[in-house]
Amino acid sequence: MGGSAPLTVQKDDKAMFDKILIANRGEIACRIIRSAQGLGVRTVAVYSDADMRALHVELADEAVHIGGPAPKDSYLRGDVIIRAALDTGAQAIHPGYGFLSENPDFVDAVEAAGLVFIGPSAAAIRAMGLKDAAKALMQEAGVPVVPGYHGANQDPEHLSGAADAIGYPVLIKAVAGGGGKGMRLVERPAEFMEALASAKGEAATAFGNDAVLIEKYILKPRHIEVQVFGDGADAVHLFERDCSLQRRHQKVIEEAPAPGMTEEMRAAMGQAAVRAACAIGYKGAGTVEFIVDGSRGLRPDGFWFMEMNTRLQVEHPVTEAITGVDLVEWQLRVASGEGLPCGQDALSITGHAFEARLYAEDVSAGFLPATGRLAHLRFSDMARSDSGVRSGDEISPWYDPMIAKIVTSGPSRAVALKRLEQALEQTQVAGSVTNLAFLGALARHAGFRAGDVDTGLIGRDLAALTEEPDPQPWELAAAAALAIDLGACRDALAGFTLGAPMWQSVVLEGQVGLRIAVTGPARAQVQIGDAVIGVQADDAGLRIAGAPGPVQGLALGGRIFLFGAAPRLFERLDPLARDSAAGAGQDVVLAPMPGLVKAVFVAAGDEVAVGTRLAVLEAMKMEHTLSAARAGRVAEVLAQPGAQVEAGAALVRLEDEP
Ligand code: ADP
Ligand code: ADP
Ligand code: MG
Repeated sequence: MGGSAPLTVQKDDKAMFDKILIANRGEIACRIIRSAQGLGVRTVAVYSDADMRALHVELADEAVHIGGPAPKDSYLRGDVIIRAALDTGAQAIHPGYGFLSENPDFVDAVEAAGLVFIGPSAAAIRAMGLKDAAKALMQEAGVPVVPGYHGANQDPEHLSGAADAIGYPVLIKAVAGGGGKGMRLVERPAEFMEALASAKGEAATAFGNDAVLIEKYILKPRHIEVQVFGDGADAVHLFERDCSLQRRHQKVIEEAPAPGMTEEMRAAMGQAAVRAACAIGYKGAGTVEFIVDGSRGLRPDGFWFMEMNTRLQVEHPVTEAITGVDLVEWQLRVASGEGLPCGQDALSITGHAFEARLYAEDVSAGFLPATGRLAHLRFSDMARSDSGVRSGDEISPWYDPMIAKIVTSGPSRAVALKRLEQALEQTQVAGSVTNLAFLGALARHAGFRAGDVDTGLIGRDLAALTEEPDPQPWELAAAAALAIDLGACRDALAGFTLGAPMWQSVVLEGQVGLRIAVTGPARAQVQIGDAVIGVQADDAGLRIAGAPGPVQGLALGGRIFLFGAAPRLFERLDPLARDSAAGAGQDVVLAPMPGLVKAVFVAAGDEVAVGTRLAVLEAMKMEHTLSAARAGRVAEVLAQPGAQVEAGAALVRLEDEP
């Protein structure tokens, strides 16, 4: 972890903890451990069966096993975690984000056990837990809230009347919502009732609470949030982050400060956020999320409160990069009894920073979360890369498939963005599909470069951002060379046969046939159609005519990974295995990953067309719709809603129509 020196103004000399327990996993557990170590605080990790050899376990001073891989059997077991803290002599528990971080009952239990919760009080979490109550509270505190209805009357006619009064388009939101769930955009009155029913249905299953609120849908919305920090009595803000680059209400790239922000609006937003924090006696790090109307430019009267996240946020590193503050250090200091480490006047912005969230996911399959062993993982020296995995580690189906947060900063937005682009180019991942190429395309997006961001940017330009152009000849030649591991053929006589060189064929899925012949030490010729291209391997990579530079990559089993500005994955076909793969899988619809069957839309005897929705599987926080790959009739439904299924489990069997 790079970054500048923490801004440390020692005010009083309260005793820092000797030992804390981190009730989390992955990158955030590792990130917290590093700051704790910097303060001389010993750390206790907790881990599930799936995380036995995880990086956070290795980094911590001690580690306690807390149960099975499913979160409910380990990272969500507050009682077991508190017991682990008591048994190891930890004085405090840091919850990270997700899991138990915003669970007020857990905070109560931690305190009842005589331990310190590193975060806000249970009362503060409760006050912000439901969006409707939070909005009412904020309105009272003089914080502008999104115009809408957040009252108790849930009668559909009343809600529809409220929507008419607000004016379309409107947004229906689950009051207990999070992660974009239970949210519906309604464009016209005629669509209101159906959207309401579906939002309520989703909210009931996801949160056990089907209450909703209605909000004016802000056009060209920007998501701008303010980092706040309180000590229970007083609070400061650490400026804003712009998180407008979202896909389906999930953040993809965040930055600080917000492009186009004026001093006047920043002051207004900062003051509103501090008022929000003070209204609930906030202690620790928190984020006040605002929606901003970007269609009229940034103006001090054009932002409205959406919700407050009462925890350290995923994207906190961009704030650290521009303020020099180590937010985890501040959390530990305030939780141990110190007052605010500094006042508002001592805080300022230096430069600009970006964070890109690198995920194991299949972009071409609709961003489907992926799993796999990361046989090769390398980060760029240009970035702070917060990660919970290292080469050889597994992205398991049990948790969020985030591989790393790539954070860059610089004196100006343009420099920080250029560094992000380069850091992404230098990031190498083999062993799973990733969103790396998508992040690279975003970093190069003209509108984003110009700072013209809104939450619809990704959706509007999705096709261009995810398109995979046909491979260039040099890319095919590189794939062939990696397939035969040309770099290892350094022997002076490698490939030399008397007479003509020996040609081998390399079949890549969806590509023309390739042939490659080794013609000398680490040297080969690749035949692509009628053309022949020479390849030379050296320490920098593969030298190939037409390539932008030495090409790096890796072949793993049947998959060939090319790294660089436009990373690519080729599947190598074993011609003998092809037929058996083609026929299977069509008749039986399999679960692509372990998960919970949320809904099944068909019954035996139903006729389906290509694309008919069959079932919804919930896995890794997301819902995946499984649809028919061919027309036919449902022969059998093999899984019922509510069932937990393994990857590869048969869900629905199709047969030909009689
Ligand atoms: P943000 O991305 O704005 O910080 P989110 O509410 O989307 O806020 O979630 C923050 C993080 O918390 C996610 O990236 C995820 O890792 C974790 N998280 C959210 N919900 C859950 C959950 N139900 N179980 C485990 N982790 C979760
Ligand atoms: P969650 O708890 O799911 O994070 P939020 O209320 O924070 O829900 O909203 C998530 C995202 O939805 C925002 O970041 C923004 O992109 C969009 N959004 C929320 N409210 C509005 C609104 N009133 N108008 C337009 N977009 C909105
Ligand atoms: Mg939110």
